[in-house]
Amino acid sequence: MTQARRTFLVMLGVPGAGKGTQARLLEEALGIPQISTGDLFRYNLKNQTELGLLAKSYMDRGELVPDEVTILMVQDRIQREDCQKGAIFDGFPRNLVQAVALDQMTAGDGGIRRVLMFNLDDDEAMRRITGRRTCPVCGTVYHVDYNPPKVEGRCDLEGAELVQRDDDKPETVKTRLYVYYKQTSPLVGYYFAKGLLTEIDGTQPIDEVQAQLLAVVQSEPVA
Ligand code: ADP
Ligand code: ADP
Repeated sequence: MTQARRTFLVMLGVPGAGKGTQARLLEEALGIPQISTGDLFRYNLKNQTELGLLAKSYMDRGELVPDEVTILMVQDRIQREDCQKGAIFDGFPRNLVQAVALDQMTAGDGGIRRVLMFNLDDDEAMRRITGRRTCPVCGTVYHVDYNPPKVEGRCDLEGAELVQRDDDKPETVKTRLYVYYKQTSPLVGYYFAKGLLTEIDGTQPIDEVQAQLLAVVQSEPVA
């Protein structure tokens, strides 16, 4: 029996553009998992693994964690059982070395199915990131103004006290935006040239972005 081609999607855009929020919603809608390299690093950090401690020094500065460890971590992650139908990459790839590695990892499935590029200007990205709050238990992401929890400061699902990420402070965000333009933005051209890029207006409210995304993804032919 031939196995169906897996669906690999990539979310691209500045920090704060809404990649994680949309990846989680799409995960539910499509039944394929979100792979967030930022979340994987934070998980490792919480568990005090060697990888987590290495990643921390880069994350604290807003710089990219070295490619070698990042790529190995993703390779390991996509071999897990829950990725048998595919995966939604959020925050990976972040430079051309990682993009080429992802092409190789997905080659057996005909490559990446589509790249969703979220457009948002820097001022709005800054407002989104500085107002971002996360549940330390389930990882649900909120915004103090744009997407507040029902009870201020508490997760709707877990009741846990929401936290602000250490790297979501304005000084670090500036470095992250710089790193995005220098290292990640060339991927827009890379994927455009491959005919894989779809631009999404990231300024729309969360549910409208979701509707637009679903329309794009569901119009893709499924092998
Ligand atoms: P955001 O959602 O705001 O874009 P992430 O959670 O994706 O932030 O990333 C947080 C930090 O984790 C980055 O600033 C970087 O240090 C590290 N990181 C995440 N993904 C990668 C990656 N693909 N390559 C290298 N470093 C990464
Ligand atoms: P990224 O993963 O691209 O860094 P997130 O999904 O974490 O971005 O979103 C950043 C912040 O902006 C979060 O606080 C989130 O609740 C909020 N947010 C996400 N999408 C939207 C949107 N379409 N409109 C307003 N706020 C949003």
